[in-house]
Amino acid sequence: MEREKRYKNTILIDSGDDKAIKEAAEHLRNGEVIGFPTETVYGLGCDAGNGDAVRKVFEAKGRPADNPLICHIGDKSQIKDIVSEITPLAQTLIDAFMPGPITIVMKKADSISAQTTAGLDTVGVRMPSHPVANKFLKYCGVPVAAPSANLSGRPSPTGARSVIEDMDGYIYAVIDGGDSEYGLESTVVDCTGKDPVILRPGAVTKADIDSVLKNKNTVMSDALTGGETPKAPGMKYRHYAPYAQVEIIDMPEGTKITGDDAIGTDGKIENSRFTLEDLKKLSDDEAKELVNIASPFILRSRELLSKNPFVRIGLYCGTEIKTVYDKLNDKLLSAHTEFCVYGKTTDVSCASHGLFEGLRFLDVQEVDVILAQGFNGEGLSVAYMNRLSKASGKKEELTPGMPAPARPARTPLPIDAFKDTVTASVLFVDDNNTSLSSCCEVLMRQMIEKNEPYISGDYADTGFELYCESAGLTAMDGLGADPQMDKAVKEISGRGLNNVESRRADPAIYDCNDLILTVRDEQAFAITKAFPEIKDKVFSFSTFAASNGLVMKDSSGRVMSISVPDPTGENYETYLHTAKALKAWLEVLFPYILKYAGASRI
Ligand code: AMP
Ligand code: MG
Repeated sequence: MEREKRYKNTILIDSGDDKAIKEAAEHLRNGEVIGFPTETVYGLGCDAGNGDAVRKVFEAKGRPADNPLICHIGDKSQIKDIVSEITPLAQTLIDAFMPGPITIVMKKADSISAQTTAGLDTVGVRMPSHPVANKFLKYCGVPVAAPSANLSGRPSPTGARSVIEDMDGYIYAVIDGGDSEYGLESTVVDCTGKDPVILRPGAVTKADIDSVLKNKNTVMSDALTGGETPKAPGMKYRHYAPYAQVEIIDMPEGTKITGDDAIGTDGKIENSRFTLEDLKKLSDDEAKELVNIASPFILRSRELLSKNPFVRIGLYCGTEIKTVYDKLNDKLLSAHTEFCVYGKTTDVSCASHGLFEGLRFLDVQEVDVILAQGFNGEGLSVAYMNRLSKASGKKEELTPGMPAPARPARTPLPIDAFKDTVTASVLFVDDNNTSLSSCCEVLMRQMIEKNEPYISGDYADTGFELYCESAGLTAMDGLGADPQMDKAVKEISGRGLNNVESRRADPAIYDCNDLILTVRDEQAFAITKAFPEIKDKVFSFSTFAASNGLVMKDSSGRVMSISVPDPTGENYETYLHTAKALKAWLEVLFPYILKYAGASRI
């Protein structure tokens, strides 16, 4: 099914705007698709009785038509209109877990469109506990068919920003209700037979369900236990997958896992920050356990780096692991690692809460591989590992004909309001600042704009602005750029150098910049010789690349240096070639420049 943009932009509705939520409900009843928050993940809702509206949802998601949608309700009294029979087993689970992160599969009533259930004679029913979802569903009045609001195959969205990322222009509106509490989709339980069968694990665990049943006979579906072909439609498809490859790093046997009783808690996520000071306070045994958990990440990262010095690695891990990395202070490892820290390392509810956003965040950093913390416990760990192993493509047999989606161009997202904003600046230096360094300044600025917005790597609520400028060691002030270079830069970037006037590099300019990059080695050398006190922030392209372990070898295995000759006086082709070479270099160095400055993309 061809995906078609229906709107210029998707409307973002504030969860406090009651009038707008009412209007969104009215639009839903009139056949529109609305994104809404729930305590599990965000959903794409439509009127479950309207086949055309349901088709729009499948189209917006790019979802195969044989994968059914779940019917959402705002009031338990609606269940009897959706299903033909509520068995005693179903009633027990409804009484025990609704509203909450559970979907109960029952025999469907005729009023539910066949598109909703993908032609099955059963229907999944769910009543979210999220207050905004509840209010919206009550305003809708009709049963709302809704899958997760991600593009098919991608990690599910647990924030409105991610819904916009996947759905902007494809759906009418999305209600922003903040972060989803659990972060993993609902537990799907088939109640059409004698025993309840868990088709998809979630925050309501097998033990939770058994605890309300006399016989304690809850079964995991064969597909989940690795048996035969999947029974629940949709389970055969590739799922939750970021663009980067995902590898699971196992938790050492015997590690005590916490947060497993997610359903019993009020869902508050404690995002503890474990600091270097904390590390010093640990007993030997505790420190040993920590190193045990961290070392598989470190070993695997070093292995990846030894195979490919350009590899960029994302870590989805706990706060203690980041602290071990900080303590280790391996510059190369750090330069190639992007962190997404979910909270306390052993807390599976934190890890579940942050998983999908974490995978998306690391994807935006354009890492090649994501190493994600595995959990070997029961309960919520089962749901977490179910999503993670699908994201890692480990279950290749479950993903017929569904290749990883190609990485799309970044779409500009609505900028969040930040508590604070920090800034950093990069200075490009050459000799006369009329050609090479000016070219770098303009190309870098374009790259910065293309990748906006940024946050401070350590603090998600702090915005980051990155600037760049250029200067020349022997430059005269106020000269215009070399017209040949101007033309070349225009040709490769669409932007000329007409706003860049030359100026002499001096200590005041060095002071304002956090990173100083020179085109040639001897220029960096000249700066550090004159001003040894700033040597830590001065690099040539070559030394900056080398300090990040970016070693390039020619076909005979010899290390290549980055020498970009000055094209002055040569023909236009040489200028063009030079501008292209600088662009290629900046593209390689860009993620390392961000990392050096302390910025992350969002
Ligand atoms: P999503 O909408 O992305 O959360 O996915 C919904 C999932 O719920 C499907 O992929 C199925 O695994 C499951 N599901 C929904 N309805 C049924 C049903 N009638 N029978 C079995 N599984 C269902
Ligand atoms: Mg889904």
